[in-house]
Amino acid sequence: MQDILSRIRIVLVNTSHPGNIGGVARAMKNMGLTGLVLVEPQEFPSDKADARSSGAVDLLTNAKVVSSLPEAVAGCGLVIGTSARSRHIPWPLINPRQTATQVLQEAPQHEVALVFGREDRGLTNEELQQCHCHMHIPTNENFSSLNLAAAVQVIAYELRMQALSLADSSNQEPLPWGTDWDIELATHDELERLFAHLQQTLEDIEFLDPENPRQLMPRLRRLYLRARPDKVETNILRGILSATQKTLKT
Ligand code: SAH
Repeated sequence: MQDILSRIRIVLVNTSHPGNIGGVARAMKNMGLTGLVLVEPQEFPSDKADARSSGAVDLLTNAKVVSSLPEAVAGCGLVIGTSARSRHIPWPLINPRQTATQVLQEAPQHEVALVFGREDRGLTNEELQQCHCHMHIPTNENFSSLNLAAAVQVIAYELRMQALSLADSSNQEPLPWGTDWDIELATHDELERLFAHLQQTLEDIEFLDPENPRQLMPRLRRLYLRARPDKVETNILRGILSATQKTLKT
């Protein structure tokens, strides 16, 4: 995982407050990112940056300081700019999660840069127009601008989550039910009884033709198994089936 994360550059353009540079280094190191590039920082190196980095001084020591954005992103196959607000000319716009997916997909092929702007006015249109696409963190429209280090933290976290998920090949989509479910989940045998009951009822109402069942039961099984019914839900479903069968007999 470290290999792939080391192919991602965090580029900070013309940062005014050295404390923010330190905050960015800390956010990056927490999430396993290492490549920090500074374009014309106003004050760097700085004790304030070291102090705010709380132990991520190694990232600051290894940070590359350059004098232009093209220099900072040289060699990168994908460059993503960030913006706290929408700009005049629409550009392909993605959120941090989409960014992480895209970045991790491309990182094995080439280095990738994520470019962050000045605290007071972000990136210029000219700088944004050097980027393949733009990332916006979906904040409150009336208060959209995050602190620079907080913005880096959001995307660094998404990158780590994506890297973790790629590292675990058996990984599935996050499951909707947690360990803190209020009712015990139905057991295998309870579900099998539900399916038998469902099948019988569907035959009773002539929705399912036993001579030609097609894929109806497999599809319904898949639906219910995907939903992971708990014991109460299973009982409700069985109750509905019983009531349906009772109505038929009257
Ligand atoms: N007033 C500036 C805000 C700059 S905040 C502007 O309008 O752009 C400093 C930097 O943090 C931004 O350039 C961007 O890189 C990042 N940032 C802050 N809020 C963000 C958000 N909601 N989405 C994406 N990046 C954001």
